[in-house]
Amino acid sequence: MTQKKIAMVHDKKIALVAHDNKKKDLIEWAKYNRKLLAHHKLYATGTTGEILEQELGFEIAKLQSGPLGGDQQIGAKIADGEINFLVFFWDPLEPQPHDPDVKALLRMAVVWNIPVACNRATADFMISSPLMDDNYDRLVPDYDVYGTRKIAGNK
Ligand code: PGA
Repeated sequence: MTQKKIAMVHDKKIALVAHDNKKKDLIEWAKYNRKLLAHHKLYATGTTGEILEQELGFEIAKLQSGPLGGDQQIGAKIADGEINFLVFFWDPLEPQPHDPDVKALLRMAVVWNIPVACNRATADFMISSPLMDDNYDRLVPDYDVYGTRKIAGNK
């Protein structure tokens, strides 16, 4: 499949999500990086967003709470090109009622080749990358071709 370039400009569109046992981690990380995050457009699932807004003092686009569809809303925005960066501190030690949504969100991040950090160390490396404040062309398979693929029994 050929590839397409999707431009990511200086101001990224970042989604922040943390499961309950990981919220403290994400909040500490976001507060530490408050200045670096300030010029980007931030999105979050409901509860994460509510706490982050209070702690950071700037506006965050809040979606539904994760178990109520927030992860799926973020996944849809990734597919629509509305979100192009994901920080998702998911809990590896506790099953979640919305485990299929968690998996689906992580899958969308890979389908659309967006940067995704699932733990604090990765988030630290990502936010300190020079690419963070630069333009960057993401390579994504040309999915237009996927829509024209041959389906058995259909001409
Ligand atoms: P929450 O959702 O921010 O509403 O707690 C997070 C999640 O479980 O995906």
